[in-house]
Amino acid sequence: MLGLMQHHPLLISSLIEHACASHPDTQIVSRSIEGPIHRCTYADVGRRAKQAANALSALGVQPGERIGTLAWNGYRHMELYFGVSGMGAVLHTINPRLFAEQIEFIVNDAEDQYLFFDLSFAALVEELAPKLSTVKAFIALCDRAHMPALDIPNLRCYEELIADQPEQFEWPLLDENTASSMCYTSGTTGNPKGVLYSHRSSLLHSLASCTAGGFSLSAADSALVVVPMFHVNAWGMPYAGALSGAKLVLPGPALDGASLYELMRDEGVTLALGVPTIWMMLQQHVEKGCLKPRDELQLNRVVIGGAAAPRAVVERFEKDFDARVVHAWGMTEMSPLGTVCHPLPKHAGQDLQQRLDLQSKQGRALFGVSMKITDDEGNSLPRDGKAFGHLLVKGPWIASSYFRGQGGPILDQDGWFDTGDIATIDADGYMQITDRAKDVIKSGGEWISSIDLENVAVGHPAVAEAAVIGIAHPKWQERPLLIVVLKPGKSASREELLDYLNDKVARWWLPDDVAFVDELPHTATGKLQKLKLRELFRDYRLPL
Ligand code: AMP
Repeated sequence: MLGLMQHHPLLISSLIEHACASHPDTQIVSRSIEGPIHRCTYADVGRRAKQAANALSALGVQPGERIGTLAWNGYRHMELYFGVSGMGAVLHTINPRLFAEQIEFIVNDAEDQYLFFDLSFAALVEELAPKLSTVKAFIALCDRAHMPALDIPNLRCYEELIADQPEQFEWPLLDENTASSMCYTSGTTGNPKGVLYSHRSSLLHSLASCTAGGFSLSAADSALVVVPMFHVNAWGMPYAGALSGAKLVLPGPALDGASLYELMRDEGVTLALGVPTIWMMLQQHVEKGCLKPRDELQLNRVVIGGAAAPRAVVERFEKDFDARVVHAWGMTEMSPLGTVCHPLPKHAGQDLQQRLDLQSKQGRALFGVSMKITDDEGNSLPRDGKAFGHLLVKGPWIASSYFRGQGGPILDQDGWFDTGDIATIDADGYMQITDRAKDVIKSGGEWISSIDLENVAVGHPAVAEAAVIGIAHPKWQERPLLIVVLKPGKSASREELLDYLNDKVARWWLPDDVAFVDELPHTATGKLQKLKLRELFRDYRLPL
């Protein structure tokens, strides 16, 4: 017997319609490329998203066609999030930090029909334009006064494009499984592969991310979205913002500590989301300027994901900012949210060190995500917090295949997707990443977690950033090398650092050596680029 409830497809257009109806005056604050702070409301975003949808229809954009964006976090990008997906086309957000050749590849692979770009990327677009064979016009996200002088055929101005368009648009009643947006993974080998999200997957993901077990997002929040809208839909925040009615604060291109701190202070930010490197820069800014975030900010929680949250960063948010860190894990193929770390009632009364131990875990699976760990043969491993193995996931916002089946099938016969991460899961369901499968250090048949060592190392007061890689060893196969960047004006010797680690990690995990560098290489999404580091240290010999 079927239930007798109404059927409404889960569509992205319903999110902005809801925000316009229930939270029309809530602000979307953007730091513009031109400099000044721009303020608008959900009602404005909704109105202009419809104008953008009308403009795209007038250009002849067909359902399912891909529309590229090369843009920071800002209100115009947000209008495209709703306008493009809402009208049935696919928003293809492109990571501008990728190499020009990679961007060329993905725009051509996705067959983007139009490319919207922020002024910061004008030179890049000019360089690439002749090679982007499917793009019919390039649309600068600015008004006429700020139009760049570029040698590009079919250069258009966004504000002019939408200016005369009607503010009414009938959002089509799409099948909820219709593709809504896409994002390419910046894999370390082979060409990037497209992940194609649907309206349904994005809606379900937004609902889960707003729950108390997720980010607990509500209309009471002012959310600073530092995670970029060009990577995995900024962890779904534009959608979740509209769903919950939270005020959104979009930092544009200014991601330095001073600019973020200013936004946090002036916009009453209660929740901020970003990768660890961003928070390290913010905390260094606070330390250098002897600022008093506890007194000046209303920050209540900080979501850290994309890479493991270093213990020292978590501790500083607790002590200096009076903010709780919410550690989260996920990936492009997972929309991205998989696990979020919150305490259980049994953890009430824990002291700071116990809390930090818990927060160093990536957390428990959200409703919608199933996960398990397996050994190399695919046998399930126990949930005892000790056994570590390949982390496999399944759920309605996890990819079933890459765009056009690139790379072949990605699910095993039972529908599990191998994340490429190595993890433990404890009896309470808390998952902890120990490494990417290709980064684990194999020493004498045992595995050493590079992430654990890095997290302990950045706890040293002189260390700004740390990376650990395996170096070939005649007896043990591989041994860890600690590579550190010192904070400006601070010093620490090899011996001091090893001594610091000595009582904090298992003896046989202690790195065999320490190397000092001026900076560490990062990927386009802010992760340590271990492959590059291994190349740089290919000829490195450990002291025997
Ligand atoms: P991406 O698809 O570029 O977003 O990268 C996803 C990968 O980032 C995951 O498979 C993990 O290896 C890593 N990652 C994401 N969040 C975390 C986290 N909280 N701790 C450790 N690694 C993480």
